[in-house]
Amino acid sequence: MKKKLVHILIAFWCIGYCHAEQVDALKVKLQNSTSDTARVKLLAKLGFEYAFIHLDSSRRYCELAVQLADEITFNRGKADALNNLAISYDVEGNHEVAITYFLMALDIYDELGAKDGQARIYNNCGMVYQSLGDTAKSLEFHKRSLQIEKELGDSLGIAYSMTQVAALHLMVKDYEHALPLYLSALSILQSENDIQGLAYAHWGLGELYMETGPSNLAYSHAKEAFSFFENEENKKGMSETSLIIGKTYFNENQLVEAEEYLLMALTLSQELGTQNVTLECLLNLTEVHKALGNYESALGFQEEYSRLRIEIRKSEMTSNIKEIESKYNFERQQQEIALLNKENAHQTTVRNIIICVLVAIAILLLWLYWVYLSKAKTMEVLADKNEEIMRKNEIIEKEKQNALIAAKAKADFLSVMSHEIRTPMNVVLGSIHLLLEDRPKPHQIETLNMLKFSAENLLTLLNDILDLNKLETGKLKLESTAFDINMLLKGIQDGFGEEAKKKGIDLKLDVSKDVPHQLVGDPGRLSQVLNNLLSNSIKFTDSGYVKLRVEALKKGKKKTSLKFVVEDTGIGIEPEKQSVIFDKFIQVDSATTRKQSGTGLGLSITKHILKLFGSDMKLKSTPGKGSRFSFKLKFQTELIPIIDCS
Ligand code: ADP
Repeated sequence: MKKKLVHILIAFWCIGYCHAEQVDALKVKLQNSTSDTARVKLLAKLGFEYAFIHLDSSRRYCELAVQLADEITFNRGKADALNNLAISYDVEGNHEVAITYFLMALDIYDELGAKDGQARIYNNCGMVYQSLGDTAKSLEFHKRSLQIEKELGDSLGIAYSMTQVAALHLMVKDYEHALPLYLSALSILQSENDIQGLAYAHWGLGELYMETGPSNLAYSHAKEAFSFFENEENKKGMSETSLIIGKTYFNENQLVEAEEYLLMALTLSQELGTQNVTLECLLNLTEVHKALGNYESALGFQEEYSRLRIEIRKSEMTSNIKEIESKYNFERQQQEIALLNKENAHQTTVRNIIICVLVAIAILLLWLYWVYLSKAKTMEVLADKNEEIMRKNEIIEKEKQNALIAAKAKADFLSVMSHEIRTPMNVVLGSIHLLLEDRPKPHQIETLNMLKFSAENLLTLLNDILDLNKLETGKLKLESTAFDINMLLKGIQDGFGEEAKKKGIDLKLDVSKDVPHQLVGDPGRLSQVLNNLLSNSIKFTDSGYVKLRVEALKKGKKKTSLKFVVEDTGIGIEPEKQSVIFDKFIQVDSATTRKQSGTGLGLSITKHILKLFGSDMKLKSTPGKGSRFSFKLKFQTELIPIIDCS
């Protein structure tokens, strides 16, 4: 089978024989070429020639040709270059890729309607399928090629295609179809005088007749081919055609001639390393020598045949094993690659996670730094503010201390001054009394009375200021002594009796029966409070009455709670003034009050004293109808005996 394949491929390769010389000539032409179209053609041709010298260069030239053809839209040139690129792959043994490029070229030839190109592609594809061992497909392509050659009317093309198709029929022992094709091709080639083509036609016919007979035709055709190859020094052709001749002689029992050609074929095939041809030669020589009675040499050929068979088998097995090994290695490598990919993917994931974590940490750190900065800024601002507040506090504290010192100084001053003024005022008052008692002249009495009134007022004012000062500075303390409340109240009523009488006012005292007589407390301060209230009521009442009422609220064995009420039918107090009359130096600003004497300190002192008692003043007043002042006080009902421990 391989023999026949070589037979076909020789035709294929011979189209471009003497490739090295061709290459040099083409390179010179390429250097001198000025047209792009010509350059595409030359590059494609160089690609073709290099396919039998240097595959990489072949592909480079073909690809350059395709590229340039694309640039200048030279489709025919591109298809030719693709065809040559496919040939380079086919020569390398990469038949599948070759078919792809052939079909790409065929598409372009189809588009262009380039029949010669189509015929060439069909022919080439036929050869590739032959290499792949697909005889049916190969035959199909060659038949198509032949069809197109016939359409083109290219005699040589027709003859070559016929030879190819015939060879394929011969391979499958379809002699019936092979013979007419070979004969037709032979006649065309003879008329065209194409020696090379004739050699292949003769070769095929020699082989065909060797199988079918008659032998004389087998000799003549095979010898025609042999002499052509001999002239061409084509050892391959010589080896295979001499084998045909030898076998035919053997068939005809012409043993000596058979041995001669078979030995020639053996020597050439051994030289070329075409083992299948060698094997066939050895087998035939064994038979020839057996027939000659040379059993020893027959045995020698037989042994050589067996050795070569084993060697071929071994090398086939080795290549099979290598193939399996490489397949196994490939699978193992694939698995390793898959594992590595998996590991790589895992590492990538881990790396991505680490990057994400690092980025997150970086962001967090930046954020923390930002927070720290803003906090530091805030702290700075706060520290500044604190400092300012502390500074202000210091100032305030200083001012407060100064104010306290000033207040104390004022109080001390008031206290000292009041005391210092009171002494001479008492002397003044005493002197006025003495003068009044020393029978003054009538016109002096009025003056002395005025003097007495002013002096008494001044003394009251001094006493009030002193009292208020003591109360405000906490110097005034309540006493705790036993006293008779009825006597105290009666005394107060008597004290104001004269004044009330003068004004025509009814001064009433109403003490409820449940009020205990004996109490323990500060009778002096209680008197001061009641005197102030009654003095005001009488002062601001022109008619009606002024009443002092006392009632018991709670009465226990040791303590009692009393309610004191001073009410009058006087001028009353405006509602808006009622809350301020307890402040210092406040007098309700009306003509009536201005007529009256007073310091505006009485109610303030009263309120302070009640505060010392733990009580408070209540006021109800209606202007024009009267006023009602009330307060509650707690008293002990018996004096706690002081135990003398001395
Ligand atoms: P003064 O020494 O002026 O009486 P007070 O502090 O005792 O000072 O009284 C303050 C003011 O309250 C009085 O000037 C007066 O206008 C008003 N006031 C006090 N008691 C009465 C009252 N019973 N009726 C009307 N007005 C009163």
